[in-house]
Amino acid sequence: MSKILVTGGAGYIGSHTAVELLNNGEELVIVDNFSNSSPNVLEKIKKITNKDFKFYEVDLLDEQNLEKVFKENNIEAVIHFAGLKAVGESVIKPIEYYHNNITGTLILLNLMRKYNCKKIVFSSSATVYGNPKELPIKEDFPLSTTNPYGSTKLMIEQILQDVAVADKDFRVVLLRYFNPIGAHESGLIGEVPNGIPNNVMPYIIGVAAGKYEELTVFGNDYPTKDGTGVRDYIHVVDLSLGHLKALEKIRNEAGVKIYNLGTGNGYSVLELIKTFEKVNNVKVKYKIGPRRKGDIPACYADASKAEKELGWKATRGIEEMCRDGWNFAINNK
Ligand code: NAD
Ligand code: UDP
Repeated sequence: MSKILVTGGAGYIGSHTAVELLNNGEELVIVDNFSNSSPNVLEKIKKITNKDFKFYEVDLLDEQNLEKVFKENNIEAVIHFAGLKAVGESVIKPIEYYHNNITGTLILLNLMRKYNCKKIVFSSSATVYGNPKELPIKEDFPLSTTNPYGSTKLMIEQILQDVAVADKDFRVVLLRYFNPIGAHESGLIGEVPNGIPNNVMPYIIGVAAGKYEELTVFGNDYPTKDGTGVRDYIHVVDLSLGHLKALEKIRNEAGVKIYNLGTGNGYSVLELIKTFEKVNNVKVKYKIGPRRKGDIPACYADASKAEKELGWKATRGIEEMCRDGWNFAINNK
């Protein structure tokens, strides 16, 4: 039977998507090099779903070993999560970021072509919209980036579109994620930040757990509802379900499709803190600090294209995101 290859399937979004794919009856092969995840996630995926899958500990940059995955399995489609994702680190280590993300994708595409596997769903990001002139953000807005991480996303989007032009049988879905937070309701899988978190939600959790003294809110003088940054936070399970819809789309239709995966709602940093405190009955100490370089005031999706064309809509609200994120944290102290 043909299988879906999930690259980066031990990671945060990949593991949640693997769960939903398995629950939906798909056969999976997961590839990960554990550069930002750990092997015990695989057991958790099995525990949640009571289903098995094949796993290869392989780096995408290792073409020889990646080829084995294609040789030993009939891969129908690839959902490509594997990549390095820390914006700040990408500025310090651009060569590593371009090599891992771009070269890794090129090696993957080369093997896909060789083994006649012509469907790919790619994890892109709302970061490709740069600082949008208007809100909410639509898929046809101009694209730009301000850091090497974002540039890898934009470049990979371009590469995939070029591949689809050269080979009409090649089908691509580019999913531009907004801000995934939260965790699986089982509390078994979630986001495990590597070192001190850059993102706001893992930092809030760290403060609530007593790991960090206080959160610094990066600026309260933005032109937003309360002066703090506004983002479109989306529950990671909703995001994962979007991949199932993307897979369905790619099975039924040729061409390149691009979708925002967001809720369409913007929440400020202060709203996020307040909601987290309320639903979890914990205190999150914070102070107002200066703006963080490179941050934009506000970012939220027009998610209507995904609803119309994929039949997908996020259904989990900000309370659930805060509750499930905390639940995972206290389960995995
Ligand atoms: P993650 O770091 O938790 O997962 C990525 C996984 O890929 C990790 O398990 C890592 O070990 C693996 N990996 C990295 N390089 C690899 C390589 N060369 N070979 C094999 N495995 C490799 O990140 P995530 O949050 O789950 O993100 C998944 C994808 O979604 C990434 O491409 C990321 O850029 C993108 N994305 C994430 C966010 C976010 O906020 N989390 C937002 C937009 C886009
Ligand atoms: N943020 C903050 N303190 C932090 C981390 C983030 O105030 O320690 C703010 C940040 O300025 C932005 C929002 O939280 O307005 C979301 O930031 P994150 O890094 O999670 O996502 P991104 O900036 O990539 O959208």
